Amino acid sequence: MHHVIKNFLLCGINIVAYPRKKIAPFGITEFLLYNTLILDVNMSENSTINNNDFIREIIKEDLAAQTYKTVITRFPPEPNGYLHIGHAKSICINFGLAAEFGGRCHLRFDDTNPEKEEQEFIDSIKDNIRWLGFDWKEHEYFASSYFEQLFEFAVKLVKKGCAYVDDQSAEEIRKSRGTLTEPGKASPYRSRSIEENLNLFIRMRAGDFKDGEKTLRAKIDMTSPNLNMRDPVMYRIMHRTHHQTKDQWCIYPMYDFTHGQSDALENISHSICTLEFEDHRPLYDWFIKELGIHHPRQIEFARLNLTFTVMSKRKLLKLVQEKHVNGWNDPRLPTISGLRRRGYTPCSIRDFCIRIGIAKANSTVDVALLEHCLREDLNKNAQRMMAVINPVKLVVDNYPVDRHEEFQAENNPENPAAGSRPVIFSRTLYIERDDFMEHPAKGFFRLFPGGEVRLKYAWYIKCTGIIKDPSSGEITEIHCTYDPATRGGWSTDGRKVKGTLHWLSAAHAQSAEFRMYDRLFTAINPEAGDKEFTEYLNPRSLEIKKGFIEPVLASAAPLQRFQFLRTGYFCTDTDSSRANPVFNRITGLKDTWAKIMAKNE
Ligand code: ATP
Ligand code: MG
Repeated sequence: MHHVIKNFLLCGINIVAYPRKKIAPFGITEFLLYNTLILDVNMSENSTINNNDFIREIIKEDLAAQTYKTVITRFPPEPNGYLHIGHAKSICINFGLAAEFGGRCHLRFDDTNPEKEEQEFIDSIKDNIRWLGFDWKEHEYFASSYFEQLFEFAVKLVKKGCAYVDDQSAEEIRKSRGTLTEPGKASPYRSRSIEENLNLFIRMRAGDFKDGEKTLRAKIDMTSPNLNMRDPVMYRIMHRTHHQTKDQWCIYPMYDFTHGQSDALENISHSICTLEFEDHRPLYDWFIKELGIHHPRQIEFARLNLTFTVMSKRKLLKLVQEKHVNGWNDPRLPTISGLRRRGYTPCSIRDFCIRIGIAKANSTVDVALLEHCLREDLNKNAQRMMAVINPVKLVVDNYPVDRHEEFQAENNPENPAAGSRPVIFSRTLYIERDDFMEHPAKGFFRLFPGGEVRLKYAWYIKCTGIIKDPSSGEITEIHCTYDPATRGGWSTDGRKVKGTLHWLSAAHAQSAEFRMYDRLFTAINPEAGDKEFTEYLNPRSLEIKKGFIEPVLASAAPLQRFQFLRTGYFCTDTDSSRANPVFNRITGLKDTWAKIMAKNE
């Protein structure tokens, strides 16, 4: 249901808001107040696949008209970086459509540029797609394995008089291409004979020329209003070792002379790509037509942009190379590897990709929606535990020094089948420093001198005093008494308390490191300002805290996810060990997205 579509020039972002359930439009001002501008949300009730988008319509028509018998899609990453959440959208669309229409989806590495590509990226891409829950089965392909075939295609075009060898430099070609208002100028080499072109092209392959000395260009139309049709370069000379074909080739085909032909060779029915390729479609179609090969249908959709992050691989690479983050799988990055290490579940990412839907207009999605999808999943499935992140000692003066006892703590109130576990109570505990205020602010319902609160699962306690470090003035101990008539955290006389605190027994707790991650950028759109995007990095995107956890957590498996009561969702980091447990904060408990939606109910 698409209700509101508004363009806001603010930040150069296109705002598209589609509220769930509601018929009346959103109050856009409320969005601005929330700093959450943009939603491109095609929400269907249970996040089931929305099968009314324009791509599905096209496919249904094509199948009905028998233009294609089987739906064959492909996901075509260039192995020049790690995949990000935008790629996840493309993966979900391509694999999703194939599954829905009983077809298949190929994984094809678009590896035509040996300069920037590496095996590491190929491995990570495969690993990421599998983790997301998709399987290309035996359909793993490399554009580079078509190099011989592509060369023959090029020869065919040369022989038809549809391609020529140009001696101009890349710079000269760029200059003579013209502009949107001016036609291009024909290259002085454009009218070479077919024989000469063929001979030169074969010599290009043989290595007779240096890098950049010659190119092969399609002979189309230097006056075309579409710049892509002004004799685009098909091949360039690069004396470079390729990660797959090694030193077999010193000429490499350009993307535009590779992609459609690879699609054709694999019998792709629908070649789904992002909007920036719309202007390349006439060229895609031209090559296919001139070569007389299978004609896949190119369909463009809007790429995913997210607030508070950057998505292009070039920018992600800069963040990694300049060490603004700790590698491609830094939990603050929007890479699949980063999200995974952060604690995201594959299910929440797939759910997000379904909810944002497929549109034809570029927009930016509020990162709060991604977090919302994650929380929905974790709320159902993550085990609750207690951890104290910023600890202060709490001494229960009327509790015997040598005593300790167990209380049963429920593992997941959303799922009674998850059972319970024992937690140990004793005289000296840790509680969260923030849960105490010596001079309570108005509306502060947690612990303060003379105040009473519940210790979750255990007892009511009343604060009787504090001890401070004489030099720094910092509180070092809080003293209290417990009420033995409140076992399990419930009073027998009907007395109510407003605050409930989590806690750990100091003698039994295990120390742990908490990596408190926050947004990597402080700007909604770090690319929109006049400064370099790295100027908007959030200096507090990672804060490391030393605190305590329930002892069993020390043996949690890597990347296991938990809800730490009242503090947020966390997962064990891959750096974690039994002796030095490390937890990443996945996200806080407060759901800003749900809040926005509730406001608009
Ligand atoms: P980037 O611009 O981020 O570097 P790319 O387009 O160069 O990405 P490719 O490896 O060529 O990266 O992308 C593989 C596929 O993923 C392509 O079909 C591309 O259209 C799609 N894709 C890339 N970024 C996005 C995005 N933000 N949203 C949706 N699809 C995307
Ligand atoms: Mg690309």
